[in-house]
Amino acid sequence: MESQASQADSQQVAQKLRLRRSLMASGAGAATSLVLLVAWYLGYVYWTAGEIAGFLLATGLGHCLFPWLIHSSRNLNFSDPSLTSLQIGWHLAIGSYAMYAAPEIRSLLVINLLLIMLFSVFRFQPNRLPLLSMILFAAYSLSVMAQVLFSPLEVHWSREILTGLVFFLAVIGTSLLGAEIGGLRLALKKRNEHLAQAMQRIEELAVTDELTGLYNRRHLMRILRRQKGLSDRGGYHFSIGFVDLDFFKQINDNYGHGVGDQVLVEVAAEIRNSLREVDYVARIGGEEFVVVLSQTAEQEALRIAERLRADIEKLVVDVGDDHPSLRLTASVGIASYQPEEGVEQLMVRADRALYAAKECGRNCIIGETDLQGSSFRQVKATKEFAISENEEPYDQVSVS
Ligand code: GH3
Ligand code: MG
Ligand code: MG
Repeated sequence: MESQASQADSQQVAQKLRLRRSLMASGAGAATSLVLLVAWYLGYVYWTAGEIAGFLLATGLGHCLFPWLIHSSRNLNFSDPSLTSLQIGWHLAIGSYAMYAAPEIRSLLVINLLLIMLFSVFRFQPNRLPLLSMILFAAYSLSVMAQVLFSPLEVHWSREILTGLVFFLAVIGTSLLGAEIGGLRLALKKRNEHLAQAMQRIEELAVTDELTGLYNRRHLMRILRRQKGLSDRGGYHFSIGFVDLDFFKQINDNYGHGVGDQVLVEVAAEIRNSLREVDYVARIGGEEFVVVLSQTAEQEALRIAERLRADIEKLVVDVGDDHPSLRLTASVGIASYQPEEGVEQLMVRADRALYAAKECGRNCIIGETDLQGSSFRQVKATKEFAISENEEPYDQVSVS
């Protein structure tokens, strides 16, 4: 859901940028049309009033077309939603036609082609700019050739050669500068990608317990507050379970901290696997975990906790050839959220239930509401899933 929302956000930002660039390009095109109109008024363009009006109308419509396509999101149906090549093609076509039809001001109109080059710097890879330079120069040359072939106006060759030379140098210069800017743009893009990756990693680290990959205490509190919010609105129950491994210290003492860590990683994975997709697990201390059972009232929570307890009991942790396989058990305290209570209060109740489970001899689960008015021993006796055949508290982690 979150990633879909952020995709929509970045799509919106991209569309805004496309629209801004397209409006800028159309603005530049409209300014050129205005120059042409002034030149016509001053007598430099030999068109009839109908011809100039037709040209302005046609170009005006074209200048509106691309911003409209982007504004209405129709550009998203194109393989390149920025419509770069189409826009370049359009501006090049009308620029070339203007240079052909108004040779007196051709040397001014070539500036317009340089603008196309500048716009392309922001869209094209630097290695495509030399090709574009050639195309622009060819457009200029073709406008001169077209004049020779189709126009009654004579070509001022010395002026055209000079203009052509300056234009050629300007295009090459812009292309080199563009390559430089394009390089910077790519470097910036790469750096932004690295930054985004680093941000994502930081966000992951901020919510994750480094050893087990489960959520950490800080994120657990966030999850609990969210669950409380849902529940306070009514019609929603959730429960939590405090899970504490029994006699875990002995594993560290007998096999070392490294083996202990390995066991914690495997138990964490077992807890995660044992729960449903909708549940959450966090590690809040050395060998203490909290499970958040969403949409779960106490009776159902006790059943889930029993399955979890049994899965941990069945788990065989292989910690390498130098050590025997290890088995261990866990005690679980369950508490269900009571409307309007604080999450800390809920955690205290679950912790109390865990304490009772430890008192009952470990490897068992206790629901907090069962404690009210009962001694721990009584509670244990009434629980069908508590270990009934083994009244002796576990005195060591078993080795198989
Ligand atoms: P109980 O059944 O009463 O819970 O006994 P326990 O030995 O599990 O409980 P206790 O709280 O006495 O010991 C917890 C041990 O967990 C103490 C510490 O050595 C170990 N521990 C805490 N954090 C880590 C950790 O990050 N890695 C490892 N390997 N051990 C840890
Ligand atoms: Mg313990
Ligand atoms: Mg503990």
